[in-house]
Amino acid sequence: MIIAVDFDGTIVEHKFPKIGDEIPFALETLRKIQANPHHRLILWTMRTGKELNEAVEYCRERGVIFYAHNENYPSEKLDSDTPRKVAADLYIDDRNIGGLPDWGAIYQMIKSGNPYQPYANTEGYYPKSKKKGFFAKFFGK
Ligand SMILES: [Mg+2]
Repeated sequence: MIIAVDFDGTIVEHKFPKIGDEIPFALETLRKIQANPHHRLILWTMRTGKELNEAVEYCRERGVIFYAHNENYPSEKLDSDTPRKVAADLYIDDRNIGGLPDWGAIYQMIKSGNPYQPYANTEGYYPKSKKKGFFAKFFGK
C-alpha cells in the first residue's frame, strides 16, 4: 500500500514552524510499517523548503525514511497537468474527519489488510490520541 503521512499534528504535536513533541508511538508505528516491503510511505505535509527538510531529517534520525516528500516519487517533475494531490491508498492526517486515531489503532488497521473496515474498541469508538482537537479547543468537548 502507498501510505501518505502528514507531519504536524500527526507524527508530532502541531508547533509549526518548530517541531513539536512526538505523538505517542507515531515513529515506532511508522518504523514497523516501513519494515513491510508491501508498504511505501510518502511524507505528505504543508511544509516546504527548510521546514520540510527539518521534518524529513527529524524522521530520518529516528529511523523513518520516506520514499518521497510531497510527491509521488523522488524528483517528480511537476507541471500544470500534475495533480497536487499525491496518489495514495491511505492518508494518515490529523485533519481526517473524525480526527487522528491512536497510532496503535492506525497500526492495527493497516496490519489487518483491510484499513477501511472501522477499527473500534469494545465501546465502539476509535481509540483517540489524548491531544485536544479543533472542536475541543473551541467548544470545550
Ligand atoms: Mg497536520
